[in-house]
Amino acid sequence: MLEDKNQERTSLAELGEFGLINHLTKHFKIHHSSTVKGIGDDCAVLKNTEEEIVVTTDLLIEGVHFDLSYMPLKHLGYKAVMVNLSDVYAMNAEAQQITVSIAVSNRFPLEAIEELYAGIQLACNTYKIDLIGGDTTSSTKGMLLSVTAIGSAKKEDIVYRNGAKPTDLIVVSGDLGGAYLGLQVLEREKQVFNVNPQNQPDLDAYTYIIERQLKPEARKDIPALLKELGVKPTSMIDISDGLSSELFHICTQSKVGCKVYEEKFPLDPQVISTCEEFNLDSTMVALSGGEDYELLFTVSINDFDKIKGNPNLTVIGHVTEEAAGLHLVTRANQELELKAQGWNSFSDQE
Ligand code: ADP
Ligand code: MG
Repeated sequence: MLEDKNQERTSLAELGEFGLINHLTKHFKIHHSSTVKGIGDDCAVLKNTEEEIVVTTDLLIEGVHFDLSYMPLKHLGYKAVMVNLSDVYAMNAEAQQITVSIAVSNRFPLEAIEELYAGIQLACNTYKIDLIGGDTTSSTKGMLLSVTAIGSAKKEDIVYRNGAKPTDLIVVSGDLGGAYLGLQVLEREKQVFNVNPQNQPDLDAYTYIIERQLKPEARKDIPALLKELGVKPTSMIDISDGLSSELFHICTQSKVGCKVYEEKFPLDPQVISTCEEFNLDSTMVALSGGEDYELLFTVSINDFDKIKGNPNLTVIGHVTEEAAGLHLVTRANQELELKAQGWNSFSDQE
């Protein structure tokens, strides 16, 4: 429904593989002195620093992880980078380099791949990331996109999932559920469009949540903010599969339980109004909706004064002994057992 009908079409075969790589990557800047050699040789070369190196990869498949009927390619490129940077920031590390590998079928003209790389380039410039390599190949059907991100942090600054202790506070950045609801709106408009292609969607009431779905931002600012506040989280993870699922990861790896409070969940007004419209429970959406790319972390209760009142951070609960399990405390003061209802890549339908 967002397709541009007047687009030019240059066949990828016209450029050849090396021409294509050069064409796509020639305008990327190098930002970090740790990048000794970027694109153009058999390997990129990075300088070994005193810091520890963090590495993360994500693989995105058309029809499984993204739908090009409402995901513009520029946004896809941007989001593919964000998803990886988010993992780096969730280690309390700084991101420096990425590699990008793509497989495309002959359905995609050069102009489409240019759009994808425009999004990747915007992400790299905004977040000061060096594109240092990748691989380019063909696919028989659809598009595959894999990004690897590399970053670093001092050994003592790295935060794992396994350090949460009973009495620690549970904190989230930003707000929850928006990306999931944005997807619901886009899916609905796609159905409407399939029935009547003349129908132009009116998405004005959903700008925030659609942006959360199509143009997420990784929380580079949060590790920086925590440093400034003098707070080192005891555990941290990014919210890609939903709050509930991430709480399970932290609790399992830290061998603790948790209690989170429904009334504390940070929700944007557009999340609340769209939940009403779709007849969805906003607490369920906050717990199970994925792709918000906010950070979830635990801090010692002694750090409460340092984080309280910060508009970027919300305390949603606390860590308990493992035997107490994982619970949601409702507004009616009922305690419900939490389930890890995040996305599961191996379920039938995602
Ligand atoms: P090789 O044959 O050694 O795999 P390639 O010819 O595939 O090398 O790649 C040449 C250079 O271009 C390498 O530096 C590689 O990392 C880079 N590169 C290839 N594909 C991409 C891509 N899609 N995005 C960014 N860099 C790429
Ligand atoms: Mg190659």
